[in-house]
Amino acid sequence: MFMALTEAKKNLQKKGFLDMEVDVKLDLFAEIERLKKEKNAIILAHYYQEPDIQDVADYIGDSLGLSQQAAKTDADIIVFAGVHFMAETAKILSPQKKVLLPDLKAGCSLADSAPPELFAKFREKYPDHIVISYINCSAGIKALSDIICTSSNAEKIIESVPKDQPIIFAPDRNLGSYLIKKTGRDMVLWNGACMVHEIFSLEKITKLKVRHPDAKIIAHPECEAAVLQVADFIGSTTGLLKFTQRDSAQEYIVVTETGILHQMQKENPGKTFIPAPPNNACACNDCPHMKLNTLEKLYLCMEYEEPEITMDEELRIAAKKPIDRMLDISAKAGL
Ligand code: SF4
Repeated sequence: MFMALTEAKKNLQKKGFLDMEVDVKLDLFAEIERLKKEKNAIILAHYYQEPDIQDVADYIGDSLGLSQQAAKTDADIIVFAGVHFMAETAKILSPQKKVLLPDLKAGCSLADSAPPELFAKFREKYPDHIVISYINCSAGIKALSDIICTSSNAEKIIESVPKDQPIIFAPDRNLGSYLIKKTGRDMVLWNGACMVHEIFSLEKITKLKVRHPDAKIIAHPECEAAVLQVADFIGSTTGLLKFTQRDSAQEYIVVTETGILHQMQKENPGKTFIPAPPNNACACNDCPHMKLNTLEKLYLCMEYEEPEITMDEELRIAAKKPIDRMLDISAKAGL
């Protein structure tokens, strides 16, 4: 994969693309619409993308929804407004399509916390275990896994495995601990974490709750156990969004990346959404990787069809197997 990144970067530099400025008079929304039609391109955007990107996307979702969408689109080009492992997943599922990522540096601290060579050695210590990996991991980790899961379907995926079959769960230790509690399965956990979901301050959330006693605390399971303990509802990004639509409360303290507030506000115009504060004064509850993508970069990558995600075919086939198993189990369970 490193080769592919380096190659793509060289290509961009050759074209002067990295230093390119976009004419401020351009109507980027109109230009992006034009490029979508001209190139038969589809834009998939994760909920954590900036509002402008969400507004030009053809599909907005979380990891499971986006990977399912990537698998069924008949577009020639998939523009993935998300992070690198997500664009990789789209490439794994759609090898014949061109997959573009607006900024190649849009990585993920959680995916980076599990280098495949170290994980392979870790796995060797547990030869009778199967590996269930959260989709937020590199293609290399996927290739070393038996089943992939997302935060939406993880419980059902674990429950689909016979009770006497030992499991390694990777790479997120917080999601893993939460799932151990939910399913009662004693899984071996890889010690990885997401920098955004680990940054929330329990003390500040508690103070916020005192100031907003009627607000419900809703949290993503990648958060630490102490934060999850005070949550009124725990769910995937899509799960949190759906909860705010069906629930009767008028105010919510949202303990996940702030990008989701855009859809929450759009879907529930009368309700108030308060982003949970991090444990310092910075905007660390914004994912710095997700926020590397901008509308300008989205436009440039569609215009020049770079940076493109490429992948060794052997790796792609190995990484696809556990995703197919996830999609299969999800379809059978009606997820
Ligand atoms: S929010 Fe966390 S898990 Fe999601 S892309 Fe950013 S660093 Fe990775």
